[in-house]
Amino acid sequence: MINPEHMCIQHILGEHRELHALMGSIERTKPGYKGFERHRNNIKALARDGYIELKSLKTRHEQLVGYLKNHNSPIEEVPTLEYIPKEVIEAEVNIEKSRKDLIDRPQACRPNGKCREKILNSENTR
Ligand SMILES: [Zn+2]
Ligand SMILES: [Zn+2]
Repeated sequence: MINPEHMCIQHILGEHRELHALMGSIERTKPGYKGFERHRNNIKALARDGYIELKSLKTRHEQLVGYLKNHNSPIEEVPTLEYIPKEVIEAEVNIEKSRKDLIDRPQACRPNGKCREKILNSENTR
């Protein structure tokens, strides 16, 4: 995952919101929830495309929270992963893809182009 130090606030907020949405989706993979199959398939697709990393959900959330003011939505326990296939549980975020997404869409940043600037600067000073 991209170091939040190299992300703009808009993208930190967005990823934080997505983590909470993902928690909701995991909860809804349990049988008995209406549309549980749809939630299982969504999570599978996100894992396959390198967008989520369930094993780091909690620690990534804590890391992002360090950059937020007035955070009031702790993640205590990740819901059961019992209904999620093993390869999805073990999937990792595609860092190269995340990096490219942040660099290639400057209009999604606040301020405009901030992620690109931070990421490219960090690479130049290596
Ligand atoms: Zn939160
Ligand atoms: Zn950004």
